[in-house]
Amino acid sequence: MKPDFQIIGGGLIGLSTAYALIKRGASVRIIEAREGIALETSFANAGMVHASLADPWNGPGVGRQLLGSIFGLPSPMILRLQALPSVTTWGLKFLKHATPARHWHATKANYQLANYSVNLIQNWREELNIEDDYQGPGLLKIFRDAPTLAKASALTNKLQALGLKAEYITGEEAAVKEPCLGPITDRLAGAIYYPEDYKADAYAFCQGLATEIKRLGGEILTGVFVKALLSERGKVIGAGADAGDLCANTTIIAAGAHSTHVLRPQGVKLALRPVKGYSLTFEDILDENQTVPKLPVVDDALHCAVTPLGKSIRIAGTAEIAGYNRAMPNARLRLLFEMLRAVYPELSQNISPQDGIAWHGFRPVSADGMPFIGHMKPGLAINTGHGHMGWTMSAGSGELLANLLLGTPTGLDASAFNPSRN
Ligand SMILES: Cc1cc2nc3c(=O)[nH]c(=O)nc-3n(C[C@H](O)[C@H](O)[C@H](O)COP(=O)(O)OP(=O)(O)OC[C@H]3O[C@@H](n4cnc5c(N)ncnc54)[C@H](O)[C@@H]3O)c2cc1C
Repeated sequence: MKPDFQIIGGGLIGLSTAYALIKRGASVRIIEAREGIALETSFANAGMVHASLADPWNGPGVGRQLLGSIFGLPSPMILRLQALPSVTTWGLKFLKHATPARHWHATKANYQLANYSVNLIQNWREELNIEDDYQGPGLLKIFRDAPTLAKASALTNKLQALGLKAEYITGEEAAVKEPCLGPITDRLAGAIYYPEDYKADAYAFCQGLATEIKRLGGEILTGVFVKALLSERGKVIGAGADAGDLCANTTIIAAGAHSTHVLRPQGVKLALRPVKGYSLTFEDILDENQTVPKLPVVDDALHCAVTPLGKSIRIAGTAEIAGYNRAMPNARLRLLFEMLRAVYPELSQNISPQDGIAWHGFRPVSADGMPFIGHMKPGLAINTGHGHMGWTMSAGSGELLANLLLGTPTGLDASAFNPSRN
């Protein structure tokens, strides 16, 4: 039977969109290329739900940093030369948006969506009884020098005016909130505590959504790859997949960093590229009888996040513009381990890098730092481009698109995310 909506991509965004639609009574189908749902970028991310980090990565000065990274200088974002041909047009737009005014415009829009989403994720977790290692609120951002603390404080001050809650604390106070930071307090210039951010396992949350979508009669096809969209007289009528043609009244692209591939044959060049990140997860190492990390911690200087998830600990980080290169260089993974050691020297004494489960994902990063959410043309809509904020913005983006497509009030201004701005 032809559903009202079919969604290409079964990650955080596709599942959230499907759940938001099906709970409003629409019929939905998810088409997912992998053998199961959420095995791409939504699988082993840093697990932080953090409206506080809503600023896009192309802030003022990013051009200098990217250029420096080509010559091996330390940079939060690394540009690999081999990716250049495929990122030139997107990259120029990415740099164009790195002015203070444009960056603040995107930060503000992202913050509003993220803030809306953080509460929704919590509501969905509770209403569906999803067990995703949520252990209460709170996130710490630690700083090793005064200039970066001052820069982050300036942004936090501006977001506080929009409603963000934040506490500026010393290194010693940070170690009171997270005792495992004790050994490094003398290396900290200070910290910011965000009491409304939190951490939870995105993959487990996706599993919870998928179970509910199926229970409500939704169809989830896995192992089915969409090759192209099908059109008739200017309207998209479905998707041509390796398993045959699949028609729906509206097809929604939520294929993450691969959304460009699905849209290109339609003549749509989406200003979106993959920015690769890695994580290392050490399973079953946190013994409840000992003092173990409880809060997610972002180390600003190291550009990494360390997140306890149940009895496991995950270190995630790095941002590489490297195309769709799936290599997992040992040097990158060693670097992640060194980062873990720099945040929790005592905890990491008893583990070695080989004990970690290595993973990489491609963040779908738009050139202006905001997601694309909305109607594109007859029969076609989109929900992608959430970059480093996809877990945080997932439920909010699903609700927003569901309301836009069903013509119900959105509760949020969606104009900044209009895909036609592309
Ligand atoms: C290292 C790292 C750490 C991160 N940490 C955080 C964090 O702490 N907090 C946060 O908010 N965000 C974080 N993110 C970002 C977040 O993980 C992503 O924004 C989010 O997972 C994107 O979800 P998605 O559904 O758009 O994409 P995906 O999860 O990639 O899902 C897209 C799906 O589409 C499928 N697909 C693609 N093409 C096709 C096709 N042709 N046919 C059928 N199916 C197709 C794919 O198989 C995939 O399953 C992190 C990302 C990385 C890499």
